[in-house]
Amino acid sequence: MSEVIVLYDGYSVMTGKDQMSANCSCTLLKGIHNVIIDTMTAWDSQKIITALDRNNVRPEDVNYVISTHGHSDHIGNNNLFLMAKHIVGFSVSFQDEYHMHPFDKGEELRIDENVKVVPTPGHTLSDVTVLVISKQATTVAMVGDLFEKFEDIQNPSIWLEAGSEDPVQQMKNRSKVADIADWIVPGHGPKFQVTEQIRQTLKKQIGPDTPS
Ligand SMILES: [Zn+2]
Repeated sequence: MSEVIVLYDGYSVMTGKDQMSANCSCTLLKGIHNVIIDTMTAWDSQKIITALDRNNVRPEDVNYVISTHGHSDHIGNNNLFLMAKHIVGFSVSFQDEYHMHPFDKGEELRIDENVKVVPTPGHTLSDVTVLVISKQATTVAMVGDLFEKFEDIQNPSIWLEAGSEDPVQQMKNRSKVADIADWIVPGHGPKFQVTEQIRQTLKKQIGPDTPS
């Protein structure tokens, strides 16, 4: 089991017609491996170091950095973690060594018995989600911008307007992840519990005749 610690809740607010203020949720997993998921903007290094320190973790103790996708607010401090393997979307590397993992064929990447990375394209075509078995024996999904925030379940325009390179795939992957997760940590909002009602709502949004 891994301890799931959300270091910072992400947020996104429109501050003008074409301006917004946003930062991503940043999560630490402590277990067989220490994993950090989505490293905020390049201006947040001190915030991350401070939050790790509160949890008795030094940057060099982190074994994996996972950026759910390559946008600037999700990769900003990956270079704090030079002892770690880096997974950025579908790209898996350590220094200049790249490991070709077939995420594009739908294959998950297992980190250890409690943590795995699954492909969930939509927001970008190479988005991933991290699934973890928590100490409470629940499944927690760190989904990046597959879900922008809890409110986007009732109001899909929130995730659509946040940018979606493939809305049909995103819709399907939202439903797929909700079916297996007890909790979701969205890219830009606090974590929320997945209810049966949420699962039904997401399933209905796909509709009966969406081609697969
Ligand atoms: Zn984002």
